[in-house]
Amino acid sequence: MHPWRHAARETFFEATPAACRVSPVGERDEHESLFANQAELTSSMETGAEHTLIIRTPDDFHLHLRDGPMLEAVAPISAAQFGRALIMPNLNPPVRTVRDALAYRERIMAAIHGGQSEVPHAPSFEPLMALYLTDGTTPEMVREAAASKVVKAYKLYPAGATTNSAAGVTSLEGLYPALNAMADCGIVLCIHGESTAKDVDPFDREAHFVQQTLPGLMAAAPKLRVVLEHCTTKQAVEFVSNFPEDRIAGTLTCHHLMYTRAALFEGSRLRPHMYCLPVLKAEEHRSALLHAIKHNEKGRFFLGTDSAPHLEKDKSTPKEGCAAGVFSAPCAMELYAEIFDSVNALEKLEAFCSLNGAAFYGLEPNKGSMKLAKRARSVADSVPVHPLGSAIVPIRAGHEVAWTCSRIEK
Ligand SMILES: [Zn+2]
Repeated sequence: MHPWRHAARETFFEATPAACRVSPVGERDEHESLFANQAELTSSMETGAEHTLIIRTPDDFHLHLRDGPMLEAVAPISAAQFGRALIMPNLNPPVRTVRDALAYRERIMAAIHGGQSEVPHAPSFEPLMALYLTDGTTPEMVREAAASKVVKAYKLYPAGATTNSAAGVTSLEGLYPALNAMADCGIVLCIHGESTAKDVDPFDREAHFVQQTLPGLMAAAPKLRVVLEHCTTKQAVEFVSNFPEDRIAGTLTCHHLMYTRAALFEGSRLRPHMYCLPVLKAEEHRSALLHAIKHNEKGRFFLGTDSAPHLEKDKSTPKEGCAAGVFSAPCAMELYAEIFDSVNALEKLEAFCSLNGAAFYGLEPNKGSMKLAKRARSVADSVPVHPLGSAIVPIRAGHEVAWTCSRIEK
């Protein structure tokens, strides 16, 4: 059955901002009690009935949608799972001005409401725009961005750190006036936190940035609100957790929460579709990320998939090397559900996916809901991008995820 039609019948479920409900299918009614604790969940699972969670519609605070045919192929996929997404500006050329952002936003909306994808149209989706910080960003540009209302953040890419980051920042000192203007206007700074120094090992780049660069940046702009994007190390989550003021947060991807660098070499073969930046890390770091989502009392960690599609030909061409990025959009929420389930923390899933990020950005939570059923489904082998004659291979391609998610709109 068409997933949206199925979802439409479920509108009698009310989302609760503070807790998730879990109940066997067939025994639900609108007066059912709130999900109480893990023991209740575990005991009801033993009966063999399907279990469901209802949470507020989630947001993705770190998403790459690309442009052109790729945008048309992937935007509806994220819109099927998320109510809003913060759209990363690393196009080529980058999204630098309010004008660029407004035009890109229009292309995103057109892709969702009439692109080539066969994914059903999402009930509602709002792209939140981020601008690309460069050495030339001025306080005036920041104030114009804030006045636009559609721009919520600037994204700092150290020059050369990742895909399309050649125009990124080479020196932070000259940007302090712009950073302080962001603080004054309520614009968030999102950081790709990796050192680009040639002598730093790729697996140590994030820890190096967190220890050598981030403290100075936080001190130089003492009111700036900062998101350390895609935290992948214990150093990153400890910095965010222990920072003495409530003006820093961290996004966590599903792939860094679920996989270690071993996934890059599984079965003695190099796995290009698991190659991303920051690169997957060792188990001790993944454990620190899991600890962060389980003990997220300050609400500083929230969802950012960093879903970053590349065509298969760009992932597997040996001559030019493999592009960095994991495409998780087709099953992102299912993977987050698996992760929270694996650490017995499903009652923390809603705050992570649907509340903490909105609060940090000063937004109301979404109005609709999402139903997550613990029912396996398979993930497609690939998402075709017909005009480009290639396809995007998602994470878990051709395999199953343990949950099935569907949005429920009011
Ligand atoms: Zn990214």
